[in-house]
Amino acid sequence: MFLTQVVQLLYDGLLTVAYPQVCSICYRSVEQRTFGVTCESCWEKTRVFTGDETICWKCGLLLEAAPPPAFRDQVRCGRCEPQFFTAARPIGPYEGALRESVLELKRQPHVPEHVETFLAAVALRPPLNTSTRIVPVPLHEKRRRARGFNQALVLAESGNLLMVGTRVRDNGNWMKMSRAMVDAAALAATAAEKKDAMALEAATDAITVSCMECHRPYRDQGRQMGAPPK
Ligand SMILES: [Zn+2]
Ligand SMILES: [Zn+2]
Repeated sequence: MFLTQVVQLLYDGLLTVAYPQVCSICYRSVEQRTFGVTCESCWEKTRVFTGDETICWKCGLLLEAAPPPAFRDQVRCGRCEPQFFTAARPIGPYEGALRESVLELKRQPHVPEHVETFLAAVALRPPLNTSTRIVPVPLHEKRRRARGFNQALVLAESGNLLMVGTRVRDNGNWMKMSRAMVDAAALAATAAEKKDAMALEAATDAITVSCMECHRPYRDQGRQMGAPPK
């Protein structure tokens, strides 16, 4: 067993004694803090998408249709058309442990590791797997002051999707560059919230630099960043 796992177990044990977390669904004790506010058994009962479901290719809504695999990217629900975004993907339906985790994120600026793992899996599916930047949606100043934090920023910072699961290419340079991008994105979000154009410009430059430095070795085989390889 790795030392970090031992520390984690000890920490979980101590935490259970000091701050017993009661599952917000079944009221039993939550065994590990990686699960957040619900227990392992409630997580097991929570439906999580596998990626094979038929969904609206734009908003991710679960649909009944069963199109041939080649046409999956042409399925639309018809309701999200006027909305200004390219694609959204859910971990699963808004129910059970997922619903509790979303609600908790409005109260506490923390994403449990269990949810991070699901987020990373979703980010690996098309079309999100071709995305190159993570920029949190700014929260209205009034709302941000009332809540004390922007939960989109918390999501972007949460160990980050590039730094968990199978996206990790190595533990050295890859992690360093991913961290640089998260830091730059956080600066951009803060600048956007403060409506500070100069700071936003600097943060955008930092994001661009981190993109270029990472794409060159990891995606473009040493070429300068340009159009993605066909
Ligand atoms: Zn439970
Ligand atoms: Zn839709």
